[in-house]
Amino acid sequence: MSYVFPPVTATVPVAGSDALFPVHRIYCVGRNYVDHAIEMGHTGREAPFFFMKPADAVLPVAEGKTGEMPYPSMTKDLHHEIELVVAIGKSGKDISVEDAASYIWGYAVGLDMTRRDLQGEAKKQGRPWDTGKGFDYSAPISSLYPVAQTKLITEGNIHLDVNGEQRQDSDIRKLIWNVAETISYLSKFYELQAGDLIFTGTPEGVAAVKTGDLLEGRISGLGSLKVQLV
Ligand code: MN
Repeated sequence: MSYVFPPVTATVPVAGSDALFPVHRIYCVGRNYVDHAIEMGHTGREAPFFFMKPADAVLPVAEGKTGEMPYPSMTKDLHHEIELVVAIGKSGKDISVEDAASYIWGYAVGLDMTRRDLQGEAKKQGRPWDTGKGFDYSAPISSLYPVAQTKLITEGNIHLDVNGEQRQDSDIRKLIWNVAETISYLSKFYELQAGDLIFTGTPEGVAAVKTGDLLEGRISGLGSLKVQLV
């Protein structure tokens, strides 16, 4: 047996080591901060819901580097969404809220980049969000920080500047569904696997970016994520 061509595995670097975290799936939580749900025209009171991006949509950017994200085709309204990313370290389904923390391998700073015009049209027509959310390079992500070092993250500032000016600023404790509840709920639909990433949702302040813009995201207790649109 042999491969007809070499298999490709998407990876994210681990902070402070040579290790790479192989990405299995990317799950994303929709509308998980009240003030973002309201800016998108909703009340902020709904059960969690999920969408996915392909694993190879990650654009890993090591600490201290600036990643280059090509401005995507077929959109005139590319939006930033700064998010806490949770990396899963072992498989499990029907995980209880109480057990959820033991499935966390680590955390990263992520951007759920969104073709808002395509997503908006898909919502209007009742169509899937894939072209709006799951395109190439749509998931820039910092190095991963092992939970063994960071300890559990349940609060802390989450922040995004564009060209040095503040766009998003909130706190992880404002998540409607916290990380443990999200892992538990998601694991009712899918058997989670080591290598899964969960983008936990964005706070208010989402807006458009253009070619040349420099995005710099930070989350307390983690590093930063710098991405330039090219
Ligand atoms: Mn998002």
